[in-house]
Amino acid sequence: MTMASTASNSAPVVRFAPSPTGRIHIGNARTAVFNYLFARKRGGRFVLRFDDTDLERSRAEYADAIEADLRWLGIEPDVIVRQSERFALYHAAMARLREMGRIYACYETQEELDRKRKRLAGRGLPPVYDRAGLALGEAERAALEAQGRKPHWRFRLDTEVIEWNDLARGPSRIDCSSLSDPVMVREDGAYLYTLPSVVDDIDLGVTHIIRGEDHVTNTAVQIQLFRVLSPNGAAPDFAHHNLLAAASGEGLSKRSGALSLSSLREAGVEPLAIAALAVLTGSSDNVQAVASLDELADIADVSHASHHMAKFDESELAALSARTLHAYGFEKVQARLRDLGIEGEQAEAFWLTVRPNLERLGDAPVWWPVACGDITPIVEDAGFAHAAAEVLPQEPWDASTWKTWTEAVKARTGAKGRALFHPLRLALTGRESGPELATLLPLIGRTRALARLTGG
Ligand code: GLU
Repeated sequence: MTMASTASNSAPVVRFAPSPTGRIHIGNARTAVFNYLFARKRGGRFVLRFDDTDLERSRAEYADAIEADLRWLGIEPDVIVRQSERFALYHAAMARLREMGRIYACYETQEELDRKRKRLAGRGLPPVYDRAGLALGEAERAALEAQGRKPHWRFRLDTEVIEWNDLARGPSRIDCSSLSDPVMVREDGAYLYTLPSVVDDIDLGVTHIIRGEDHVTNTAVQIQLFRVLSPNGAAPDFAHHNLLAAASGEGLSKRSGALSLSSLREAGVEPLAIAALAVLTGSSDNVQAVASLDELADIADVSHASHHMAKFDESELAALSARTLHAYGFEKVQARLRDLGIEGEQAEAFWLTVRPNLERLGDAPVWWPVACGDITPIVEDAGFAHAAAEVLPQEPWDASTWKTWTEAVKARTGAKGRALFHPLRLALTGRESGPELATLLPLIGRTRALARLTGG
């Protein structure tokens, strides 16, 4: 049957739900950004939910780091919740499921379950749990517990076909008779992910669950849980996007360090380039540089995700990052430049001059003393440099000064082409190559230019 959906025309509520057991990488960013853009475009809300019911593997430092990584990407959550603080809700849901007769105790060990699966496989049957626990009477349970066995708890599925219209994958269906009744609570009392996720999605009013396609198989179970636990029996809408993979086809694990947001940040990659690459790869949209998340929201959408693996080339990231940077207006980088010691009257003109030459914003300070400070000029032919100095125009200077001046130098010395321009660049900047001299020269100004040419 098809489920009624909680997603109405009102503003959507989405959530990104990482387990804080490591740093997040660009593949996790794909999910986070798809969710964020979805809400942003529709005036909705973005919940950051830490799935930290596994108290042993979850760490507060990772949660803090994930929050910081998201903020760096430009994602400001509207609400942050931690599952470790919400056990009372899960206990209440378990109690309700028990009352409904949907929860039953099982006592098999892992080895016993493995043997059952192998036996089924040997007969060519799918590895579906045989519901032996459901058949146990009170006395049998008591006997097992007297042997020291502790129960784990399964949710009894309705055997039916669950259908939903996936916003990314289209019409989808799962036959629940091919699934084992899922374990909700382990024998040590720990909740597995399935139930708390549904309980929170209901409690927080989540309207759209946007996540990787590795979760498709959980969806039928979760829809059944929504049906019995949510006040109106409805489930959110689902969108399962394709997963990001390295160009080699290898999946990205949480521990593939090089693609963690923190290491990309350290490498000087622009967060907006990461956001763009994360959601435009493996979609019907072209990978392109954008100037803001709003612009990205106008282009990208989880419904554009393709049905194949989203392969991405790490080397594209540096190029996209540079293109992203080249398009930034001064306001966008002003604060970051200030942190790098670049501020004052000339900062804006400086930015507009050097940005096309930068691969990373962190390289801007290389050019700051060239424009407004002290450098070591390279003068190979002092006679030429003096001749050039003699015809330096008077100020005020503008973008046409370079042309006026170099024509005068050419007339005075007879030098042309590289023999004219290269020694001037070496003297004025101390470097072989760099930003356009037409725009750089007015920043350097007459006094500095004169001193660099004449060593004065
Ligand atoms: N904690 C789960 C994960 O990180 C969340 C899955 C979901 O979005 O429902 O995969």
